[in-house]
Amino acid sequence: MGNSLDMSLVPERFRAVLVAQPQVSPARLIDATGGDLGEGDVLIKVDYSSLNYKDGLALTGTAPVVRSFPMIGGIDLAGRVIASADDRLHPGAEVVVTGGGLGEVHPGGFSTYARVPGDWCVGIPASLSTRSAAALGTAGLTAMLSLMALERNRSCPDDLGDLPLLVTGASGGVGSLAVLLGARSGYRVIASTGRLQEREFLVALGASEVIDRGEVGEIASTALAKVRFGAAIDSVGGSTLANILRSTRPGGTVAACGLAGGSDLELTVHPFILRGVTLAGINSVHPYPGDRESAWRRIAEIIRDDDLSSIVSVIALDEVIEAAPRILRGEIRGRTVVRVRP
Ligand code: NDP
Repeated sequence: MGNSLDMSLVPERFRAVLVAQPQVSPARLIDATGGDLGEGDVLIKVDYSSLNYKDGLALTGTAPVVRSFPMIGGIDLAGRVIASADDRLHPGAEVVVTGGGLGEVHPGGFSTYARVPGDWCVGIPASLSTRSAAALGTAGLTAMLSLMALERNRSCPDDLGDLPLLVTGASGGVGSLAVLLGARSGYRVIASTGRLQEREFLVALGASEVIDRGEVGEIASTALAKVRFGAAIDSVGGSTLANILRSTRPGGTVAACGLAGGSDLELTVHPFILRGVTLAGINSVHPYPGDRESAWRRIAEIIRDDDLSSIVSVIALDEVIEAAPRILRGEIRGRTVVRVRP
């Protein structure tokens, strides 16, 4: 793989954000070379990346996200193919890459150039720009994979009757896009947030109701609670996820995709065996074969560039290091796009 890739288009030096060592030195901006890009049969000039919770963990060394050092960070990228030894991808094609190990075991998107296996690339639908593709990125893919999991498990909008779809961590990246995609897909969405000052933002995205996250986050002592939700997309985990499962309708599904509030799950089996609730795990890094492409097709049917304007903030590549601890503190609203091209 990659032997015949023309690397002559990569300049001698270009900018990248490097995570040098585990939990010792913070990430820093470097002058990288082609040799820092790893292997792969597709060479991409990166337009945009994005800042995800996982990037926050990686750049600050808070959790062992990066598994090989030194590593160029960034779990998402969107840009243009400039050289390819993969017959399916030609120079000029606009592609988005998320997961697969990008920024974890393979040099990532916080870099002017990237070299990746062709299998990791998804063609950006014609209706979306590279900026929007990066804005959606891992968060948008995760939100859509979550919706697809609900649909597969008897939790389409019509299955919910009068009950709402709950989205937690709603002001964050996955959450805000789940509110938007969920509402556009026909669900009545309740958004749960610790930032009630973002009510207007969430209602504009399509939330019918906005609730304080304390309502679903406090540790409950009962095995089951009154049914309140038809289905849920949870990026918070911990006691929030346990409480949602206790409060979901018989036959309903909860898509668990995150741990922003905790990774423990203290629960009895009652929601599963007495109410037939399904707990659907979401893994955007290695989705089921074909799901990544289906999810991007579905996203493109629902979203246009303009839909993302209230969700997106743009920062420069050298600002991503300062922004990393802020996403871990839950201070960032929506999605932060990282402008990589000069
Ligand atoms: P963000 O930081 O953008 O969003 C997380 C949101 O969770 C915050 O905005 C906040 O929302 C809420 N939150 C933060 N801290 C707490 C807390 N202590 N208790 C309760 N709620 C809290 O992150 P992302 O959207 O990028 O990621 C969200 C989660 O999903 C992360 O855990 C991430 O690792 C995971 N993830 C998983 C993926 C997968 O493949 N399974 C892919 C992408 C992300 P608010 O202020 O509205 O309450």
